[in-house]
Amino acid sequence: MIPITLPFLPPKEDYDILLHGIWKRQWLTNMGPLASDLEMKLKDHLGVDHLLFVTNGTIALQIAIKALGLKGEIITTPFTYVATTSSIVWEGCEPVFVDIDKNSLNIDPSKIEEAITEKTSAIIATHVYGNPCDVEAIEMIAKKHKLNVIYDAAHAFGVNVNNKSIFEYGDISTCSLHATKLFHSGEGGLVITKNSKLLKEMSHIRNFGHSGPETFYNLGINGKNSEFHAAMGLANFNYIQAIHDKRKLLTDRYDKKLKNLKAIKPIWHTKSSPNYAYYPIVFESESLLLECFEQLKLNEIFCRRYFYPSLANNLPYLETKSIKNTDDISKRVLCLPLYYDLALTEVDMICRLLLRVQNN
Ligand SMILES: *Cc1c(COP(=O)(O)O)cnc(C)c1O
Repeated sequence: MIPITLPFLPPKEDYDILLHGIWKRQWLTNMGPLASDLEMKLKDHLGVDHLLFVTNGTIALQIAIKALGLKGEIITTPFTYVATTSSIVWEGCEPVFVDIDKNSLNIDPSKIEEAITEKTSAIIATHVYGNPCDVEAIEMIAKKHKLNVIYDAAHAFGVNVNNKSIFEYGDISTCSLHATKLFHSGEGGLVITKNSKLLKEMSHIRNFGHSGPETFYNLGINGKNSEFHAAMGLANFNYIQAIHDKRKLLTDRYDKKLKNLKAIKPIWHTKSSPNYAYYPIVFESESLLLECFEQLKLNEIFCRRYFYPSLANNLPYLETKSIKNTDDISKRVLCLPLYYDLALTEVDMICRLLLRVQNN
């Protein structure tokens, strides 16, 4: 059986050593030494000024929205994981969907301005599959209309644009360190900002709003993460390069073997390089996708239709809406298995099956 993904696991001894320290200190959560160490290591590794380790990538989005005090309408993409949209609704705001660019699969900046109303407070865009949005165009629009920008960078760990971390763009970027993500701590998330005022807001929000044992700075929630999750992150930290290299090897193999498949890959931002978080392909037609999907399933190979269907017509709490490129692409896009423990021979088998379906 080949699943769409398997989480990377570090050698168990690496985790055990860190557990030993947890037992000695009896400090299990609330910004413990391992959580602080992980924050420091990640800041250094990513080259960002400030970041906070939080419970997960969803609470990261909610904390970001809360810290900016967003109200009213938020312009966003319907081609993303549901957490981007649900966080907006959860925070009492209204998502306004703008179509994606059919090459990058990210929100199309040229369609943002026509969606702005007097109620618009922000843009929340996702760097889909780790491919950076057109951050310059989005920044220009945001400045012109005095809107805040949050990037859901859940897929974009380790990505640079113009030689700096993608996490430095926008007022706040968020990341997910969930087990299925490129770099993980089991469950976990990050909020990243250059703005020290926003950092202060978010660090208090993460801890119930406490400013002291008996005093409060703002309205908070429990967004802290535990020492056990930090330990998983720290154990994985030493393998970031190895994970990257293996995923690159597998991706290059897919590229080489699938040259003749009637499917295309998203066009990458020209001033960035891929982080190999996913292997998405957009088939020529939905029928070819479905045939391939079924054929792989018969061979115990399980892909995922990330992201299908469009969030603009699949959520019971929102009115449905058809959106041209998103509807079209979401029907034709498939992510192929990609994870550290996947073998090149397995990639070869997947590619053989795909080409056989197409050529039948
Ligand atoms: C995974 C993911 C999230 C949510 O992250 P969790 O850590 O699972 O809460 C949010 N947005 C996108 C785009 C994601 O892929």
